[in-house]
Amino acid sequence: MNFVVLTLFKDMVESAMNTSIMGRAIEKELIKLDVIDIRDYACNKHNRVDDYPYGGGAGMVMQAEPVYKACEAARALLEENTDIEGEVIISKNKKRSKLIYLSPIGRTFNQEIAKELSQEENLIFLCGHYEGIDERVLEMEVDDYISLGDFVLTGGELPAICIMDAVARLVPGVLNNDDSASDESFEGNTLEYPQYTRPEEFMGKRVPEVLLSGHHANIKQWRREQSLLRTMERRPDLMEKVELDKNDKKFLSEKK
Ligand code: SAM
Repeated sequence: MNFVVLTLFKDMVESAMNTSIMGRAIEKELIKLDVIDIRDYACNKHNRVDDYPYGGGAGMVMQAEPVYKACEAARALLEENTDIEGEVIISKNKKRSKLIYLSPIGRTFNQEIAKELSQEENLIFLCGHYEGIDERVLEMEVDDYISLGDFVLTGGELPAICIMDAVARLVPGVLNNDDSASDESFEGNTLEYPQYTRPEEFMGKRVPEVLLSGHHANIKQWRREQSLLRTMERRPDLMEKVELDKNDKKFLSEKK
């Protein structure tokens, strides 16, 4: 899977993505990351990429031209083989790469969207700063708008990093144990059961006995029940989407 990030803060993206599991996935070439500095496409000698908003108001707006050129450079990197003069030699990938603008006005990111994005071969993330980006280039280049949540950040880099992390860990081979991604919160719309590791007793608190029993069916059932309980208590909004079998229904009616 190929990621390209368009940003004014390359270091921020590269340092986060070259760390831990993501760093290993890049090393193993399971994912490829290119980070493009939008400032490289500034169209003035001071390397400025922002200007005052038409109509007045606070803050600055990122200009259309450098953003447009950076978007086109990302598409060329993913979709075409170009020679030194930028002439297209062969088309690598006829499908248009999906370009995502990170923005509070986008659809709110969740695990379902992570799965949807993990089906793409190429993803381009456009990170805004200041008051945002000139609308005209967004209309021309953006295929999808994604928000990290109902709050305002100073830039799109942290959302891009979060989304790449969530998407990349669904790529086969990125996690050591492929089961890790299929047995987690939001799988089947439930939250994950509690996890424990050694020692068996910590400050007087013991690990639930069933987990020490070695009885796989009982452990599986206990985990399912804990998932249902947690979801009911902490995210009741998810419960209506959970598929319940007859054991689940019996357990929940006893709890109620
Ligand atoms: N003026 C914009 C508004 O009111 O919607 C906010 C601009 S914000 C200060 C600067 C940049 O941070 C945005 O262009 C966007 O790329 C990013 N950003 C801020 N909050 C975000 C969020 N919740 N999700 C995704 N990106 C966000």
